[in-house]
Amino acid sequence: MQRQRFIRLAAALGTTLLFTTGALAQDKGMVGISMPTKSSARWIADGENMVKVFREKGFKPDLQYADDDIPNQLAQIENMITKGAKVLVIAAIDGTTLSGVLQKAADKGIKVVAYDRLLRGSKTVDYYTTFDNFQVGVLQANSIVDKLGLKQGKGPFNIELFAGSPDDNNSLFFYDGALSVLKPYLDGGKLVVRSKQMGLSKVGTLRWDGSVAQARMDNLLSAFYGKDKVHAVLSPYDGMSIGILSSLKGVGYCTPQQPCPVVTGQDAEIPSIKSILKGEQTSTVFKDTRELARVTVNLVDAVVAGKQPEINDSKTYNNGVKVVPAYLLKPVAVDASNWKPVLVDSGYYKEGQLK
Ligand code: BGC
Repeated sequence: MQRQRFIRLAAALGTTLLFTTGALAQDKGMVGISMPTKSSARWIADGENMVKVFREKGFKPDLQYADDDIPNQLAQIENMITKGAKVLVIAAIDGTTLSGVLQKAADKGIKVVAYDRLLRGSKTVDYYTTFDNFQVGVLQANSIVDKLGLKQGKGPFNIELFAGSPDDNNSLFFYDGALSVLKPYLDGGKLVVRSKQMGLSKVGTLRWDGSVAQARMDNLLSAFYGKDKVHAVLSPYDGMSIGILSSLKGVGYCTPQQPCPVVTGQDAEIPSIKSILKGEQTSTVFKDTRELARVTVNLVDAVVAGKQPEINDSKTYNNGVKVVPAYLLKPVAVDASNWKPVLVDSGYYKEGQLK
């Protein structure tokens, strides 16, 4: 009797175990996640968030960072294909250099999602998840317009323009978005670019490198600003803004006699939030990488299940060969007035990290 009960119990347990292992072992396959660099905190957060959510959904994520080295990124993606990835999620270093490897992926039936940065010149890009990149530039420029009081007719003011890496499709969107707001003031003489350096070929910053931006700001200040002061700097990315601010401080800005000019940014990186709290950098643009990870994983999940993924833009992102169906999230402007609700109350950062 005793023995029979034991056998029944063991059998029931066995079934439960089987079910449990079955659920745990639910394997939707491998997803290759190729990120450009660890030199900026946002990509680290993007990677970590995606790994977490992919695992929760039953995928096996393979996350690789390419150290901003194009051959490295190529080799990492080739390796993901060899290892049997079902889907590739790629934030490219240079959006135009991956066509060969993308074709290899397509030949094996692997789906490709361009992550945050558009993959250009290839027809084998299936989807694109990102933020409204034009709007990022609009928000950056709005911060300049507001802080200088341009709408109230103040000016003229001197401004210098910086753009991101020319090989990143986003750079043009950020720059165009910003210029769409600044143009009337530039045309009307309320904003003056003393260096006359405009356009991505002149103001682009290869690999978004903060030290390159700092060196260019040094040159601008010594060549064009003696007793005339610069009142605003359009900077597309926090890592560059910090370099630009170092350069400005080096020649006496950011003091009670000579306050910092308006300096914009992007990504809400910790050093920049600290700088905003000190009254140095003016603003940044927050892009919630948790949301981008969630949207991307849901999209991949739908694609792997053979379903139609959710898309909210099918016209903006022409990669030179096709318009890539996209899901765009909303960027949020952040400055000294709203950093707490946006960044702390939302749980993105702990207050202690920012002080
Ligand atoms: C991203 C920005 C980031 C920049 C530099 C761009 O492609 O959209 O969020 O600031 O790359 O990493």
